[in-house]
Amino acid sequence: MRDLSAGPRVLLRRLRELMAEPLEPQERLDQIVRQIASNMVAEVCSVYVLRSDGVLELYATEGLNREAVHLSQLKMGQGLVGTIAASAQPLNLSDAQAHPAFAYLPETGEEIYHSFLGVPILRTGRALGVLVVQNKASRTYRDDEVEALETTAMVMAEMVASGDLKKITRPGLELDLSRPVSIDGASFGEGIGLGYVVLHEPRIVVTNLLNEDSEHELQRLAEALGSLRISIDDMLSRRDVSMEGEHRAVLETYRMFAHDRGWVRKLEEAIRNGLTAEAAVERVQSETKARMMRLTDPYLRERMHDFDDLANRLLRQLTGYGAKMSAKDFPDDAIIVARAMGAAELLDYPRQNVRGLVLEDGAVTSHVVIVARAMGVPIVGQAAGVVALAENGDAIIIDGDDGKVHLRPVQDLQNAYGDKVRFRARRQAQFRALRDVETKTQDGLPISLQMNAGLLVDLPHLPESGAAGIGLFRTELQFMIASTMPKMEEQEAFYRQVLKQAGGKPVTFRTLDIGGDKVVPYFRATEEENPALGWRAIRLSLDRPGLLRTQLRAMLRAAAGNELKLMLPMVTEVSELRDVRALLQKEIERQSKLGEQLPRKLQFGAMLEVPALLWQLDELMAEVDFVSVGSNDLFQFSMAVDRGNARVSDRFDVLGKPFLRILRDIARAGLRNETPVTLCGEMAGKPLCAMALFGIGFRAVSMSPISIGPVKAMLLQLDAGKLAEQLNAALDDHADVTASLRPMLTEFAAKNGIPV
Ligand code: PEP
Ligand code: MG
Repeated sequence: MRDLSAGPRVLLRRLRELMAEPLEPQERLDQIVRQIASNMVAEVCSVYVLRSDGVLELYATEGLNREAVHLSQLKMGQGLVGTIAASAQPLNLSDAQAHPAFAYLPETGEEIYHSFLGVPILRTGRALGVLVVQNKASRTYRDDEVEALETTAMVMAEMVASGDLKKITRPGLELDLSRPVSIDGASFGEGIGLGYVVLHEPRIVVTNLLNEDSEHELQRLAEALGSLRISIDDMLSRRDVSMEGEHRAVLETYRMFAHDRGWVRKLEEAIRNGLTAEAAVERVQSETKARMMRLTDPYLRERMHDFDDLANRLLRQLTGYGAKMSAKDFPDDAIIVARAMGAAELLDYPRQNVRGLVLEDGAVTSHVVIVARAMGVPIVGQAAGVVALAENGDAIIIDGDDGKVHLRPVQDLQNAYGDKVRFRARRQAQFRALRDVETKTQDGLPISLQMNAGLLVDLPHLPESGAAGIGLFRTELQFMIASTMPKMEEQEAFYRQVLKQAGGKPVTFRTLDIGGDKVVPYFRATEEENPALGWRAIRLSLDRPGLLRTQLRAMLRAAAGNELKLMLPMVTEVSELRDVRALLQKEIERQSKLGEQLPRKLQFGAMLEVPALLWQLDELMAEVDFVSVGSNDLFQFSMAVDRGNARVSDRFDVLGKPFLRILRDIARAGLRNETPVTLCGEMAGKPLCAMALFGIGFRAVSMSPISIGPVKAMLLQLDAGKLAEQLNAALDDHADVTASLRPMLTEFAAKNGIPV
């Protein structure tokens, strides 16, 4: 009986020799198709390569009319070849001309060949071309022949990807590998980023394709699979993982896949056909990827992603490869491209070189996105397929405003974005010029513009933006990006560092605001049906006093000899503040007993986020030194709209009468009680909203640092007294309570030359 694996093995060995010979690319291709045809006993073997204009061009043929080379062309999806490229799947036909997609190309003289086998030339799931064999006699190719041609196509993929074919590509045309691609994603962080791709998980380039000894490779595969399975079991048995539902589910899927017979059989088959173990994994992975790109069912896509991740792990096992790009190759303008990544991983990159982040997955609220926003770089999420389409070092533009990614952009697009970036830079320069101008409205009201922060990467923005201080320091971010609960000493060192870098400007630390959408991996509460209304923030802190006391102690120690400003999130009743004060008092006493230095001054505040506090305003203000309105949550709870649910979050306007009236009541209560009131939700950073806030009596707001300039430019032109008159009249008008005041405010700004 014929050894089925001998044929492909001989062919692959011959191809390897051809790849190494010093031949001109056309000559090399010609010899390759000749070898394939003779090895597969086919009368015809042809290679079509996909150009960037979506046309498949005949690059070499054995058997068809040679004059047709570089002339015969088929569009993606056109004819059998175009169908194969578009579907990324092989076609095996005993009577090609009977196939509905068959397109007759007279110059090739192919009408006499009946049977047809074509396979896509795949690289990371993308079709780069098509490899075809044909015979006169009507026959169906055996599975092992299909398999052999697919393996051969892998070698062709390397040749296309190596750039070897550039020399024989007509001037003005490009191959698909360098094709510009635009991807529509979602805007996760504003701004424009121009730079070069850095793949977060570097693609493992398998250079050793063909094996010398199949048995040895099968052995290597078995060993790698063995260690992969053990490592997954290991992860599953770790206690911290077994606590976590979602993570555990992913690992269990991995374990199932790692034992999947079909998958393993495919890998073994590819090795028997002459590939090394790593090339076999890559080959099967490429097919899976191609399938994944065509799937529309999100669940199935997710499972395919899992397979893909697993294949990457296996490749790393087999090649020992996976090191990050070395520092010297790291571009000055790096755009990090990842399927998903952890926040801490992003912080590992040289910060000054990171110009943007692109994620295939992830949500706006994911930690890495929070950190990237803190770094002030543009972010595009939900960019489907970007990892497979990008290569390290590719030019890339990301548009965080519109949620778009442009890979290998054409010159015109580069120019257009260059203009946009310059325009933004000019505006930033104008804002910077305002930095040292006194923050007063045109009618002389002093306003305090502060910034929100949560990580050390935020701190340099304080002097850059000219903010008066940090009005909201979200301490939970340190907890969210850590893999274990930060110890008291770590917290203390962190707060000390924050105060030091703030250089004497006031910092308002908010105690832990976890729960709700803010998940801390090592602190997992039970599932809640309504987490936003659940066990979170101050509620959790009061039930776990140890946690809160540790944090308070860290704050007291870090601010020794300085001013400490702290506030509590999600307060519902004034009594909660009393309870926290009692704990704080205990900590203060403990520190004094130990002879430790205490803060020089202590300010105790509350966030106003729960509507119930609106009917306790005077009691609240008697209890605290200041109040800070968390308009994100206060709006969510007042209007009963989930702030994270895009279908409802924009349904009502923060500039509608109900919410502005609520805010005005708070500002008035502040005046009455002589209690400073600030507002630190997202609305403070929008010039038009900030204008409204100053109109209803707010004199201090805190926002992301990037908004300080635009808000300041607005208020310098604002006559707050004049606005207050008109705005109060509109708010007191009961004729139409549902009307938004946005049009009125926009008109006021336009009439008075206020930039909003
Ligand atoms: C708010 O709710 O407005 C707020 C500032 O807090 P966070 O966004 O952290 O919930
Ligand atoms: Mg809040």
